[in-house]
Amino acid sequence: MVAPFEGGCRCGAVRYEVSAEPIAVMDCHCRDCQYASGGSHTTAVVVPAAAFKLTKGTPRRFSVKGDSGTDVTRAFCETCGTPLFSEPPGGAIWVVKAGTLDDPSWLKVGGAIYVKSAQPWAHIDPNKLMFDHMPPGAPGVQ
Ligand SMILES: [Zn+2]
Ligand SMILES: [Zn+2]
Repeated sequence: MVAPFEGGCRCGAVRYEVSAEPIAVMDCHCRDCQYASGGSHTTAVVVPAAAFKLTKGTPRRFSVKGDSGTDVTRAFCETCGTPLFSEPPGGAIWVVKAGTLDDPSWLKVGGAIYVKSAQPWAHIDPNKLMFDHMPPGAPGVQ
């Protein structure tokens, strides 16, 4: 058990708490996550929406059409720019950026999603799960 766990942005203006274990942890290689990370992917910590609580500050939000074709709202700190989480449509889950946890070291990455959009130079572990887009039945991870 690791829950509850906390995290926030680099400057400390925005803080959050998660009161449940992650549903999944996946590296997302969609084009949108490449922008959000400035790199090859983001590591998405999928948590139940009801378990996620902002405890300090108000992040800035930006909505964009994701690779899935639906709108995804991304939240980031307007002071330091840290990408914090995204709110996929449906409202069932929130996706927290792994690097914003106070201690991300315990996370176990299950595999990669949106591999179809991955850059040729991205590192993808062939021994883990791999999905071209979303895993079947997933509620919309971005
Ligand atoms: Zn900040
Ligand atoms: Zn993505």
